[in-house]
Amino acid sequence: MERESSIFTRAFNFRVSVKQIIMHELKVARDLAVIVLEVASREKLSSVTAVNITFGKMIQIVPDIFDFAFRECIRGTLAADASLNIEVLSVKTKCLECLEEFVPEGFCFRCMKCGSENLEIIQGKEIFVKSIEGE
Ligand SMILES: [Zn+2]
Repeated sequence: MERESSIFTRAFNFRVSVKQIIMHELKVARDLAVIVLEVASREKLSSVTAVNITFGKMIQIVPDIFDFAFRECIRGTLAADASLNIEVLSVKTKCLECLEEFVPEGFCFRCMKCGSENLEIIQGKEIFVKSIEGE
């Protein structure tokens, strides 16, 4: 009996975390849709053909889920047929002790030169629209 309830708890927790991940993608997708439609209206486009965006790896966007969420947000608009191209930037850090810049391996956030843990993330937290194409 106890075993069953612990399985249920685990399954429930998993479902909650999946929902949270989707909410994250949905929020960013909504923001992106607003930007795309604003640009389209400002530039007087009749249709948007491509949206090119860049995410840092630390943003933890799942491209497939994001694509799906973005489709939902632009359905029925002049950007409905736009292709979405996602570029993911790797994480880069800078050691604040010896100023070495490097790409950390896995989740080991320690300077590869001097071993310090006093690091600053200089790439990987950003999210931006690179370009919007249309006609
Ligand atoms: Zn260092």
